Amino acid sequence: MQNEIQAAGRDFFLTTKRRISFYRSRAYSAYPQLEHAIFTRNGGISRAPFDSLNLSHSVGDDPAAIEHNFQAVCRVLGIASDQTVACHLVHGADVMAVTRANRQPLMGYFDGLVTAEPDIFLYLRFGDCTPLLFFDPETPAVGLTHAGWRGTMKNAAGATVAAMTRLGCNPANIIAIIGPAIGPCCYEVGPEVITAAAASLAEPGRLFQKNGRVGHAQFDMWAANWQQLAAAGVKQIIQSELCTACHTDQFFSHRAEQGQTGRFGVILGLRGGAQ
Ligand SMILES: [Zn+2]
Repeated sequence: MQNEIQAAGRDFFLTTKRRISFYRSRAYSAYPQLEHAIFTRNGGISRAPFDSLNLSHSVGDDPAAIEHNFQAVCRVLGIASDQTVACHLVHGADVMAVTRANRQPLMGYFDGLVTAEPDIFLYLRFGDCTPLLFFDPETPAVGLTHAGWRGTMKNAAGATVAAMTRLGCNPANIIAIIGPAIGPCCYEVGPEVITAAAASLAEPGRLFQKNGRVGHAQFDMWAANWQQLAAAGVKQIIQSELCTACHTDQFFSHRAEQGQTGRFGVILGLRGGAQ
């Protein structure tokens, strides 16, 4: 069966509310019980190089500005900040299932969170690594995962589908989004990544383009995650096709900004009221 690929131009749209700009998916917006947003870097109060909607405490920004930004994004979605659940990202593929019983503002050291319970809003931050969003409208359940190149080599996408399956999801019902991340246009990698891919990925040959530099290549991390989602049985995959490094006017990019930058947020969860 052919997987459905929806182009960014058709599925994603940019919204601005209270000066904060964020992307939403048309496919996801069809489900009133699902709340989701991929925030841009615009609409916050952080100063350069974190201008302006930085949500990460690990990049050197003013904690008061980050807290202001965090409260602002929660207000935009109409959720309370203590309904969000995050984790320390460690470039692995461990996925935690969040429940009302075990929920904490910071769940520990994971790169993916899943939940089938309402009013738990998964919240992770990105700046080139791939945001993977998951929604199964049948169960219902959601997942949110951080896949940089290391997490991609460990199949963080497949680990998240497996975690959702343990919640009762059928992978064929999951609608997955590959969010804004550094694209093959801008992601030059060296021997470390190329060697790891040869050992870890199913079809590494399709994921690298030679770029004239010996020992280096352009890595298509979007396609690597697409392959893993498809291999895990996901039939509906939406590729945002938004390169963070090409669009530093909209997103933070660790690579394009030489590490001196912030992180944008992604929030995803099920609303209790509309169940
Ligand atoms: Zn690019």
